[in-house]
Amino acid sequence: MNGDVKREWFEKDYYQILGVPKNATQEEIKKAYRKLAQRYHPDANPGNKEAEERFKEISAAYDVIGDEQKRKQYDQVREMVASGFRAGPGPGWAGGPGPRIRFEDLGFGDLGDLGDLFGGLFGRRGRPRAGRGDDLETEVTVSFEDAMRGTTVPVRIQGPAPCSTCGGSGAAPGSVPVVCPQCRGTGMIAVNQGLFQIEQTCPRCHGAGRVVDKVCPTCRGTGSERRTRTFQVRIPAGVQDGARIRLRGHGEPGPSGAEPGDLYVRVHVKPHPFFRRRGADLEVEVPITYTEAALGATIQVPTLDGPVTMRIPPGTSSGKTFRLRGKGAPRRGGQGDLYVKVNVAVPARLTSKERELLEQLREIETESPRRRLGVSA
Ligand SMILES: [Zn+2]
Ligand SMILES: [Zn+2]
Repeated sequence: MNGDVKREWFEKDYYQILGVPKNATQEEIKKAYRKLAQRYHPDANPGNKEAEERFKEISAAYDVIGDEQKRKQYDQVREMVASGFRAGPGPGWAGGPGPRIRFEDLGFGDLGDLGDLFGGLFGRRGRPRAGRGDDLETEVTVSFEDAMRGTTVPVRIQGPAPCSTCGGSGAAPGSVPVVCPQCRGTGMIAVNQGLFQIEQTCPRCHGAGRVVDKVCPTCRGTGSERRTRTFQVRIPAGVQDGARIRLRGHGEPGPSGAEPGDLYVRVHVKPHPFFRRRGADLEVEVPITYTEAALGATIQVPTLDGPVTMRIPPGTSSGKTFRLRGKGAPRRGGQGDLYVKVNVAVPARLTSKERELLEQLREIETESPRRRLGVSA
């Protein structure tokens, strides 16, 4: 068997893609393909990206199961996948948990090469991100007020950055990157692994798909140099502590001008001396006097936009909470509320006049507030 088994064979169900049963005849497969190809052909769906993707998928599926020889190989690979074939680096890749596969029975012959192949296919998660730069993460701390209003903060990043001479292309000034001759721009090459062919990152362009003919003297063609970059990061109004802001394309540059990674900025919000936050709502505790609580009063309470007046009705108990609508933190499409909790503050020291009046008050107090607790004094 001299195949070009691809990673996709393990991942994609070509029968499902073409909507035919596993035991379909070649004629049925051909018919199904023609019908779908007509429906999703780019000429019939101009500008429709989804249809274009679908068309590619259909074509790829028909390429394999529309060819009797390739279909046989594909079926064998799928059978292994379906039987719970376990593979990976380390012992037991063919004999561990799950059914033991006898490769001879499947017509794959010697398994030395298969070990490498399946180790490569299953040993790492997903496809290597060939050609893309790494993501970066950094942190900023903002004041409570700035978090509420929104602000812009500078963020300094030290490390690999697009080369300032060539702008990250890796090509010397005056020359331009050209399509990599080894992989023809795909960034991947097919490598023979005994019975199979698998795809690997192109060693010439490291997955970028492009190479330079005259190398940039500053970065020697890598497209990156170590330096400090400063970005202005916009912090949206109402940002929560711990939020992560993504700056697309501001991570480490990709090799030879390939796509850069992203920069993530973790936002820390400093606590406020008296406002506490609960989602989009704010809470504040406001002390009032005994007389304000008993007789009622108009007091000032702090809000994010400055003090506002609030009416305390007569007979207000300590701990009662009032809601000021729309005075909370900004949120999508509006503003949360501010919850004002009033606490009766007892003066630590009394003037003699205050003491005198309070003692008079005590004389005439008629009802104990503890009566409903079943005690008399
Ligand atoms: Zn350069
Ligand atoms: Zn290449």
